[in-house]
Amino acid sequence: MRYHGDGRGLREERIPIPEPGEGEVRVRVRACGVCRTDLHVIDDELPEPVLPIVPGHEIVGEVDALGPARPGDAPLSVGDRVGVPWLGWTCGACPDCGRGRENLCPSARFTGCQRDGGYAEYAIADARYCFPLPEAYDDVAAAPLLCAGLIGHRAYRMTGDATQLGIYGFGAAAHLIAQVAIHEGRAVHAFTRPGDTEAQAFARRLGAVWAGGSDEPPVVPLDAAILFAPVGALVPAALEAVRPGGVVVCAGIHMSDLPSFPYRLLWEERVVRSVANLTREDAVEFLAIAPEVPVRAETRCYALTDANEALEDLRSGRLTGAAVLVP
Ligand SMILES: [Zn+2]
Ligand SMILES: [Zn+2]
Repeated sequence: MRYHGDGRGLREERIPIPEPGEGEVRVRVRACGVCRTDLHVIDDELPEPVLPIVPGHEIVGEVDALGPARPGDAPLSVGDRVGVPWLGWTCGACPDCGRGRENLCPSARFTGCQRDGGYAEYAIADARYCFPLPEAYDDVAAAPLLCAGLIGHRAYRMTGDATQLGIYGFGAAAHLIAQVAIHEGRAVHAFTRPGDTEAQAFARRLGAVWAGGSDEPPVVPLDAAILFAPVGALVPAALEAVRPGGVVVCAGIHMSDLPSFPYRLLWEERVVRSVANLTREDAVEFLAIAPEVPVRAETRCYALTDANEALEDLRSGRLTGAAVLVP
């Protein structure tokens, strides 16, 4: 399922089965999660996709061919089950890579954006960016961990020791990381689209202490807030909801413009920050934490050829949890 940059969604196409190059593996895709970033790709909201592109960066599959080995790489074998996330390649040589911030590498290449992703039967991945998956998860259940989980985890870590945690936008990432937060004894306050009682009920079912519309004030001042909804207007709303010294973490790759807001909302050492991409360390960390909680992904499966439908269900908010494509 490929996107050609014409604003008309994905096209089902037959393309040659790709061959892995040096240090790469070919993965036979068993499941691929659907992420909001994929919507941004087909809506032309990301500046740098390589077109045409096969989206999909929550790939669960089985290694089915190995390219020529590269010295120093951890060995992968044919038959290994691996996960392939958004971070597909980094240079390893720039100052950001050197400081453990490979997520900010200016040459980084991202799965399903600059490298063909998992909305296909096969995908090529750099062996260094493939991760073994916890055995407790079947293929479909593991897929949403790979972006919703990893990015959610990175955003969550940026909230420090917040005990009253607000989450704006209660979709795939939120429902996973809320489970970790609750497991760690934090109180989760879920803010959804106003009137989305289904998402609010879902949040309460997972253990949120409060759920309501994003137009409502919190019942207690928040220590931190994570914004998964790509709505810039929520930034001042969340700032208003957090205590002095609180942090507002914007977790999406794209957001509508932020409205201007009075300085008093930022005053008293409140912080607004974004989270960009992920590092391999994030992946190793989260994939170890997930089975301990245990984090359970609520999934809805779609046939690979129904990828456009899955994306539209995500866009409209019809989905509870995470969509997963199965070839
Ligand atoms: Zn994603
Ligand atoms: Zn780099």
